[in-house]
Formats: sequence, structure tokens, C-alpha cells
Amino acid sequence: RRAEALARGHAPCHTQDGQRIEVFANLGSVADATLAMANGAEGSGLLRTEFLFLERETAPDMAEQTADYQAIADTLAGRPLIIRLLDIGGDKPAPYLPIPAEENPALGLRGIRVGLARPEILEDQLRAILSVRPIEQCKIMVPMIASLDELRQVRTVLDRLCAELGRTDRVPLGVMVETPAAAITADLLAREADFLSIGTNDLTQYALAMDRGNASVASALDGLHPAVLRLIGETCRGGQAHGRWTGVCGGLASDPMAVPILIGLGVTELSAAPAVVPDIKALVAGLTLPAARAHAQAALACSSAADVRRLAREFAA
Ligand code: PEP
Ligand code: MG
Repeated sequence: RRAEALARGHAPCHTQDGQRIEVFANLGSVADATLAMANGAEGSGLLRTEFLFLERETAPDMAEQTADYQAIADTLAGRPLIIRLLDIGGDKPAPYLPIPAEENPALGLRGIRVGLARPEILEDQLRAILSVRPIEQCKIMVPMIASLDELRQVRTVLDRLCAELGRTDRVPLGVMVETPAAAITADLLAREADFLSIGTNDLTQYALAMDRGNASVASALDGLHPAVLRLIGETCRGGQAHGRWTGVCGGLASDPMAVPILIGLGVTELSAAPAVVPDIKALVAGLTLPAARAHAQAALACSSAADVRRLAREFAA
């Protein structure tokens, strides 16, 4: 099946009974984009722009950012590219961003909180993205949203920059669902966001109150925990209530045990590690929606991640 999926190249992926599921790749460099294309990705559901900002003394200027985003867009050859705004701070320090030492960096100044605290960084990045051609290829995604107000503030800046640049085209602006707050209020966010994409790595860390960087709890940190699955289901419902699609760009999208459950919960876009794209496409092509939905309902009723994994192994068999 993997070989079949590879042979079909970038062809749009559907379940066996015809539900369209976009299978994208996560990127952190131009090299990733090349690998994603070789593996038949339909585009990118997450460009981690931190790669441009880390391990250097000064922030990249607009021209440098535009050149890198453009190179990645060109490598994707017209396919969709979802660019995540800078997710830096706390555990990912940069010398030009003097963030005072924090006792709990995961709960501190990170993600869009940095962009809102340092508007010049946010504005440079938005301007750089708006310079990519064709702009229709791009969508913008906001990390670490906890409240609708944060999305509104980004939208206001984006609208102002578009007006300054005399742009009438509207670049879709989506939200990363990485906090339980965002998942629970997905219906409120979806009223104003163009799409939702679940970052299951952080959503799991925050739902289970377990530090994803702490080795002593890492083995218990499993996104298939029923609490996380319920938050994912809630997010999909919130999106559907306003006709917005919900994707997953965290690690669960690369996990063959998770994919049938995600689709059964209502996820219609998966952004996986480039190397596993053919496997995920093959897996999706073998699913039917009713079976995935029934499986997801059974998973929601489990009492532990271990039970969900047992169920998922049976389903796969
Ligand atoms: C996530 O949190 O699931 C995610 C995709 O973002 P990152 O892993 O870059 O924090
Ligand atoms: Mg994250």
C-alpha cells in the first residue's frame, strides 16, 4: 500500500468511501520541503518558522525571511503552505529577545504572546509572508492561542499591513489549538478563524500537566489519552459549527494508531513528518468513515491511553 501511495505521487487522498483527507507535511527547512515533495505530500500544514530565528545574534530581517519562505513555497510548486508565526521564547531562547528567566517557561512568554509583546517582530514576519508569490499558496497560523482576543489582535495587525500594502486579497488566518482553553472554546475561535489546526504535542502537555521536555514523565505523555481525544473531538465540533476545517499538525498525525481515531473524530487534514507521508496516505485510503467514527467513539469511552492503544491495535489488525 505504501508503494501504491508513493506511485500515486501527490494525488489527493481520500478514504475508501470518498471522504477527502488532505495529507500534508510538517517543515522546518527547505530540505524538509524537498523531502516532503519526494514523498508525495499534498502541501505543508505546518512550517515551523523558528528555524530562521534560532542560533543567531539578531532577528532575520524581512528580506531574509521572504527569501526563505519563498524558497519553500517554490519547492512546494504551488501546493498549499501554512506558515506558523514564530513560536519562540521560554524553552527556545534567542539573544535578541531578552525574555527574563522564567520558572515555568511552558506557561510563560511564548508563541503569539511574544509576537504581541514585541509587535515589530510580528509585523516584520507578517510583511515577509505577504511578500511571498503567489500569496494564494499561503495561509497564516497563530501558535499558542488561549483566547479569542489574541486572534483578534493578530487579525487587526494583518488587516492594517494589508491596507498599507494596498492588498485586497485576504490571506486565510488560522489558529493552532494547543491549549485546553482553545479546544474548549473552539466554537468561539472558529467564528473568526479561517481554520483550526491541533498541535497535539502541546495540547497533550497542557491537558495532562506533564512537561513534554521532562524525561521522567515523557513515557506517560501520550496524545491518545482519552482526555486529549475528547479535546480533539470538541475542537472538531467547534470548527464544524462554523464550517471551518480542523487539522492535526502535532505528532498524532504521524502515528498510525492515532490516524483512524482522528478521522473518526472529524479531522480532515493531517500534517505529518515528511518521511511518513506515504504511510499515512496508504492508511487513510484503507479507511471508511463509519468504521473510523465507531472506532473513535469506542476510544473516547476508554479510561487510559494504554486502553486506547490496545483498541487501536485491534482496529489496525
Ligand atoms: C504541537 O505542539 O503539536 C506542534 C505542532 O507545535 P510544536 O511541536 O512546534 O510545539
Ligand atoms: Mg506546539
